[in-house]
Amino acid sequence: MRHSLRLSREDLQRWARILGQQGWLGWGWPREFGGPGWNAVQKHLFEEECALAAAPRVVPFGPVMVAPVIMAFGSPEQQRRFLPGIASGEVWWSQGYSEPGSGSDLASLKCRAERQGDKYIVNGQKTWTTLGQHGEWIFCLVRTSNEGKPQMGISFLLIDMKSPGVTVRPIVLMDGEPEVNEVWFDNVEVPAENLVGEENKGWTYAKHLLAHERTNIADVNRSKRELERLKRIAKTEGVWDDQRFRDQIALLEVDVVALEMLVLRVLSAEKSGKQSLDIAGLLKIRGSEIQQRYTELMMLAAGPLTRPFIWEAMEAGWQGRHGLAGGQPAAGRHLLQHAQDDDLAADRTKCSAISSRKPCSGADMKPPTSLRSVPPKGAVSTFGTAGRY
Ligand SMILES: Cc1cc2nc3c(=O)[nH]c(=O)nc-3n(C[C@H](O)[C@H](O)[C@H](O)COP(=O)(O)OP(=O)(O)OC[C@H]3O[C@@H](n4cnc5c(N)ncnc54)[C@H](O)[C@@H]3O)c2cc1C
Repeated sequence: MRHSLRLSREDLQRWARILGQQGWLGWGWPREFGGPGWNAVQKHLFEEECALAAAPRVVPFGPVMVAPVIMAFGSPEQQRRFLPGIASGEVWWSQGYSEPGSGSDLASLKCRAERQGDKYIVNGQKTWTTLGQHGEWIFCLVRTSNEGKPQMGISFLLIDMKSPGVTVRPIVLMDGEPEVNEVWFDNVEVPAENLVGEENKGWTYAKHLLAHERTNIADVNRSKRELERLKRIAKTEGVWDDQRFRDQIALLEVDVVALEMLVLRVLSAEKSGKQSLDIAGLLKIRGSEIQQRYTELMMLAAGPLTRPFIWEAMEAGWQGRHGLAGGQPAAGRHLLQHAQDDDLAADRTKCSAISSRKPCSGADMKPPTSLRSVPPKGAVSTFGTAGRY
């Protein structure tokens, strides 16, 4: 994580299993369901320590999102059936809420589930399903009625993604990664026993789920870690000496500390039983803005090093042909600044392979002329920024 390396499904699941063996994958769970029974502040401290230690992120859909819904509204049978696989990290869950045209306006969703005897027949589409290509189960909001307000006709269904009629199509993003997906349901049969709670009450359960992820989603602990990384980049690349750049970092730091205070206020309100759902959106927006700001400042600080994109550079152990000598960041930056523009332009052109949705091959790329004179011996950093700070 410290080196911005890409984590595979195996990496993520290995971390989930390690936590699961310790009884910590469901770190927010009460003891009766196999969790550690920590209070809100203890949970926050656990998340903070994980972030500061640069532990991999926990894929939240199972332990943080669907598990609290099953605990609160699922039948005892559903709790026995689904919670152990989530707590151990064995079963990969996905979230099926958003649809084309039903994102912000989620209540307008159209994916339909029709009750036929002891099963539901599901037809429709979900979209933006994060890591859905690995999903074994998906919790979905589905339309079971068109009567009354749109929110009144929604149900919460647990669907086995191996069921006939389920198709997952990747949406490849700018970095060449299929981080999100479309999930299609074509006459998918779902046993009625997989309905959580009551039919047409799914909106209530969906809100419960959002309440559980609200402090988590602010991701303030990761922002604290990345803020320190930003400072390291700024110092390594020399822009730390620029007062105006330091001002930007200071402004960001003030906002990160303010967000942390807000998260702690929410947590202490939760401890005293007060409702604080209304600021869930605020936490999410503020957290996302801060993430964008530190990313932009990192790009500014790293300067020309952020220009070329080498897909393989995010793989563990990649040394590449464009390695800069590990101990010479300032010299490397100087060289890059003076590199021939046409060389960089050529590299960028080759990287336009990304737009054709094929990963850009580092092997196809040539470093700028001036870089070719840098001895690659012992090189540990890359032409991109991965592994450099
Ligand atoms: C990286 C990523 C991962 C995601 N993973 C998942 C997932 O796993 N599962 C899942 O279900 N969803 C997922 N989502 C979907 C996410 O929750 C939706 O993107 C979100 O609900 C917004 O929907 P939308 O993208 O369709 O935008 P839209 O709803 O189309 O909104 C587009 C823009 O219009 C604005 N807007 C919309 N309505 C109004 C209005 N009435 N007034 C003023 N402005 C308005 C919005 O603020 C936004 O700027 C993911 C999204 C991203 C980016």
